[in-house]
Amino acid sequence: SAPVLTIDGPSGSGKGTVSRLVAEQLGWRLLDSGALYRAVGYAAGAAGLDLSDAEAVTRCALATKIRFHAAADGGDTRVLVNGHDATDELRTETGAAAASAIASIPSVRQALVELQLGFRKQPGLVADGRDMGTVIFPDASFKVFLTASAAERAKRRYKQLKEKGLTVTLGGLQREIEARDSRDASRTVAPLKPAADAVLVDTTGMPIAEVVAKVLAVVQR
Ligand code: C5P
Repeated sequence: SAPVLTIDGPSGSGKGTVSRLVAEQLGWRLLDSGALYRAVGYAAGAAGLDLSDAEAVTRCALATKIRFHAAADGGDTRVLVNGHDATDELRTETGAAAASAIASIPSVRQALVELQLGFRKQPGLVADGRDMGTVIFPDASFKVFLTASAAERAKRRYKQLKEKGLTVTLGGLQREIEARDSRDASRTVAPLKPAADAVLVDTTGMPIAEVVAKVLAVVQR
């Protein structure tokens, strides 16, 4: 089957940008698994569901149609949730918090497994997430785990959100990121942790180009 490079890590570790650039360089497909959880959280919220209602949210996860579309203007990939372009809503901190809430439900994670496995196609796949190397693609040939200090991760998210025109404060953002990370790391199902065979890269103070080079070296060695 097609080779897989898994890139896991907490939010703000640089995963999203690095995964996209590495996939472009290799000419491989890209799976943004966080977007799937964000899409389900969004769909559940739009349907007025209680995000802690495991059965209802699982049914929603199975019924929600999620599609990725290259933007016409060459910008960010658009995410269509049941036909509605929800890209902007998905990237807010509210969207992230809803994703993190529904992602702690085991049956919701199970509902998204097949969809994720379907992204594995020739010539290869770069899989970005929290459990790509541990749960979804444990047999991946290449595994990377990116980290960075909480302060640096908050700064990066702050910059990203500001560029998108969203109003946030750095302190508030750092607290939200720390709360989400500790929930992601302490949940019983698929907790955020590096696969035993992952290469760890601490990206604190490291320019993106250097991180990309380090990750490409894992595939090319
Ligand atoms: O990566 P991103 O910030 O888009 O992920 C949003 C949330 O989705 C994370 O905080 C995490 O709770 C959840 N997630 C997950 N497993 C993944 C990807 C994301 O639990 N593979």
